[in-house]
Amino acid sequence: MHIADYRVTKAILDRHGFSFKKSLGQNFLTDTNILQKIVDTAEIDRNVNVIEIGPGIGALTEFIAENAAEVMAFEIDDRLIPILADTLRDFDNVTVINEDVLKADLQTHIRNFKNPDLPIKVVANLPYYITTPILMHLIESKIPFTEFVVMMQKEVADRISAEPNTKAYGSLSIAVQYYMTAQVAFIVPKTVFVPAPNVDSAILKMTRRDAPMVEVSDEDFFFKVAKLAFLHRRKTLWNNLQSAFGKTEEVREQLTQALEVVDISPQIRGEALSIPEFAKLSEALLPLKK
Ligand code: SAM
Repeated sequence: MHIADYRVTKAILDRHGFSFKKSLGQNFLTDTNILQKIVDTAEIDRNVNVIEIGPGIGALTEFIAENAAEVMAFEIDDRLIPILADTLRDFDNVTVINEDVLKADLQTHIRNFKNPDLPIKVVANLPYYITTPILMHLIESKIPFTEFVVMMQKEVADRISAEPNTKAYGSLSIAVQYYMTAQVAFIVPKTVFVPAPNVDSAILKMTRRDAPMVEVSDEDFFFKVAKLAFLHRRKTLWNNLQSAFGKTEEVREQLTQALEVVDISPQIRGEALSIPEFAKLSEALLPLKK
C-alpha cells in the first residue's frame, strides 16, 4: 500500500485531524499510477538528487524516494511536518525542510545533499496559486537543475510550452523556453485529487538547454521587450512598443529604424514573433533602453 492509495490517504488525514488549506493550494494526489508515471517521466534513478516543492502528506515523495539518491522537500505548512515524519519514517534519503520555497536559500540547502555533485531535478505537484513565481524563482536561482517535471494547471502548462502564433503563446512561454525545452508529458484529470481542484492538470517536462536558446547582450531588456509586446494582446507590435517607450517623434523614428533593421513589420502582433526574432528585436531596440 502507498500513501497515495485513497484509503491510506484518508486514514492519515483522519488520524492527524488534518484539514485542507485552500490558500496553500492543497490538493493531494491519490492515484499511484499517475505517481509512477511522474517518476518515469522524470527518469529518476539512484544517480539523481531531487528537490520537491510541497510534499503534502508525502504521496509523491514516497515514489521519488524509492527511486532517487536523495529527496529534499520544501513544505510551508507546519502542520504537515509531523505528518511527514510519520508517513516517510522508513526512508533515510528524505529531508523535509519547513520553509517557503520562495524564501529558502536553495544554494545553501543543496550543499547538504550527501552527494552534491549528482545532477539535481525538480519534481513536484506544485501549489497552483504560485506556480509561475515558483518556476521563475527556481530558473532564476541559477542552480543548474537539469530538469523540472512538475504538475500544474493544464492551462499554465499550455502557456509555458506554447509555440508562436497560438493563443497560449506569450511572455511566459519565452521566459521559460529561453532556458529550457518544455513539453506537456500527460494530462491529469481533476478526479484524482483530494479535494478535487476546479481545473484539469498537466505534467510539464522542462529540460535545461546547454545554453540559452538565443544570445542576447542584455537579458533583462530582452525579457522586458517580450513582456511589452504582449501588454495588450490585440494591439499591434508597433502600438505596444510605442505605448511603452513614449509617443514622441524621436521614439517613432527610432522604432521605425529598429524594425526596419530587423525586418519585422510594425503591424504584426507580438504573438507572431519567435524567440530568435525577439532577440533580434531587443538588440535593435537597445538604444531606447532607459
Ligand atoms: N505533493 C503532494 C501531493 O502531490 O499530493 C501535495 C501537493 S499540493 C498541490 C501543494 C503543496 O505545496 C501543499 O502541501 C502546500 O502546503 C505546499 N505549499 C504551498 N505553498 C508553498 C510554498 N510557498 N513553499 C513550499 N510549499 C508550499
